[in-house]
Amino acid sequence: MTCGHLAAISAGCDTAFTVDTSRVTFGAGALAEVGDRARALGLRRVAVFTDPRLRALPWFAEVAASLAAAGIDAAVFDAVAIEPTDASFEDAARFARDARPDGYVSLGGGSVIDTCKAANLYATHPAPFRTYVNAPAGDGRAVPGPLAPHLACPTTSGTGSEVTGIAIFDWLALEAKTGIASPRLRPTEAIVDPRTTHTLPREVVAASGMDVLCHALESFTARPYTRRAAPPAPSARPLSQGANPWSDLGCREAIRLAGRYLARAVHDASDTEAREQIMWAATLAGIAFGNAGVHAPHAMAYAVAGRVRDFAPGGYPTAPIVPHGMAVSVNAPAVFRAFGGFCAERHLEAVQLLVGEGETRGAAPGDGGELLARAVVELSRAIGIPNGIGGVGYTAADVAALVAGTLPQQRLLANAPCVVDEACLTGLFQQALTYW
Ligand SMILES: [Zn+2]
Repeated sequence: MTCGHLAAISAGCDTAFTVDTSRVTFGAGALAEVGDRARALGLRRVAVFTDPRLRALPWFAEVAASLAAAGIDAAVFDAVAIEPTDASFEDAARFARDARPDGYVSLGGGSVIDTCKAANLYATHPAPFRTYVNAPAGDGRAVPGPLAPHLACPTTSGTGSEVTGIAIFDWLALEAKTGIASPRLRPTEAIVDPRTTHTLPREVVAASGMDVLCHALESFTARPYTRRAAPPAPSARPLSQGANPWSDLGCREAIRLAGRYLARAVHDASDTEAREQIMWAATLAGIAFGNAGVHAPHAMAYAVAGRVRDFAPGGYPTAPIVPHGMAVSVNAPAVFRAFGGFCAERHLEAVQLLVGEGETRGAAPGDGGELLARAVVELSRAIGIPNGIGGVGYTAADVAALVAGTLPQQRLLANAPCVVDEACLTGLFQQALTYW
């Protein structure tokens, strides 16, 4: 069997995949469409979620003017926390209940869009907070019905939250990052205006761009959907379906675009072509991973970000913090190096897309994992990503705690192309300590 064999369905495994996505509007000036699109959905009063930095930028004024021109009332919540917590999700939900909107608009990065999803969920289907949170941390109950319409306007080229049904937060009492995952959480419309990337600090473009690349690389090398156990009912098919022909389409193009434009987008804020291409790559990779799921580098990132001590990167207003894209990409080379043998052709194809076929001429499929690891390391160095988990403050003495913090992320670990247990994770974190 090869990784790309469509018909190679393992016994007892799923035989089909489902394509889900938000309606997507992409292009310079798209923010001016928000009001008309909200009106077309029948909305009369929306809750607008954003953060204090964005509220002061012209993008917020454009959205507000567009809503006003369409005759839509707006109640604004601009206190979204950069790394949302259960407490900040509950504050946002309280605001939504009091504002009584018939729809939602979010303008911001993943934190803003995720907070808006949670506010919409708990205002529409009130329940104790733990009800919808992923098990085992929460009860993992299904969302009982549709949410109010949500128009999501991303302003960073990274998380893909505008097209996924996932909301991530820090659960303060558990000292762990976890989330809520349901197709019901997926925004109704994603309105992606790549001009919003022109004002991003370079460090944010670098970290969020590596998140895009890892979404694509992990979805592309994930366990194929034909090797995941069949769901108890078709409607219970998980968001993390595994690699499938639909997600492969977006992954391939996102990897190619990241290889071609990411370093340019980081180093030159006036290179609007590069920044806009990375926004398109983020959209494609978001749609892809929303239908395939990511695996070990993202699972490990929960622990890397969650146990931060004093790391303070430039470009971010709060510290200590290991930004999500950084927390993911410091693990990625170790994972590709170790997993290359389980899905050899795919790792080789990925590195060819990333650096160009000429750079890998004569390579055998078995070289794919190592070559992909080296290419990710090279790109990381070129755009100022720290040198492994050692570069964000960890030492060999932290490996056991990082492993313990990763093991609960079974939803992601099960999506890897091989079994990922405690011994495997220990080896991965040791290899991820330093790369150069
Ligand atoms: Zn991510």
